[in-house]
Amino acid sequence: MKVTVWNEFRHEREHEEVRSVYPNGIHEVIAEFLQTAGFEVGTATLDEPEHGLTEDVLSQTDVLVWWGHMAHHEVSDRIVDRIHQRVLDGMGLIVLHSGHFSKIFKKLMGTSCDLKWREAGENERLWVVNPNHPIVQGIGETIELEHEEMYGEHFDIPAPDELVLVSWFKGGEVFRSGCVFNRGQGKIFYFRPGHETFPTYYQEPVQKVITNAARYVAPVKRDKPVYGNAQPLESL
Ligand code: ZN
Repeated sequence: MKVTVWNEFRHEREHEEVRSVYPNGIHEVIAEFLQTAGFEVGTATLDEPEHGLTEDVLSQTDVLVWWGHMAHHEVSDRIVDRIHQRVLDGMGLIVLHSGHFSKIFKKLMGTSCDLKWREAGENERLWVVNPNHPIVQGIGETIELEHEEMYGEHFDIPAPDELVLVSWFKGGEVFRSGCVFNRGQGKIFYFRPGHETFPTYYQEPVQKVITNAARYVAPVKRDKPVYGNAQPLESL
């Protein structure tokens, strides 16, 4: 199974505070633990030609992981359309943290994907609300993150097909922080934590959720459904 980890990779190059947490970029940290988990992993970043997401790369990608924040608008619509088509054809997509405002996530959701936010470094407690779900295999009742950015409801998304995790923040807000959506033949997992100034992607439970999610949203190997005019199966 091939996973491609896409990262905007701007904060890490422009802000010392972020570089000190992720010196080689968020994508390298995510790629490393996914590789350790046994996946074949590649990375791609915004400033590469075609953002590193050529037809070739995407056609060989089973699951695409997406982290972006300050340059969503620089992602070309042509590449977004290409990713969108791949998702409809069955490629899995994991959208992380500020990727809620990425062009691809908004296109797949069809809503504003807006939310409340606050950078106060408060603690976040993610509650497992769907304990039988494969994405939370090996996870306890909660995941505790000492310092995170707050995202609060209302989160303007369509009702998720599966709600797996809900976050609570010290300031009092709650948030649907682990959501599965089906679009065409593809599965999408939105996972909230991962603000760039905190070492969130080094936390073992966070790595486990992303690893489990990669397995869960991977394409199901079967023929695509047949659409259009159909001959009856029984005589009419
Ligand atoms: Zn953030």
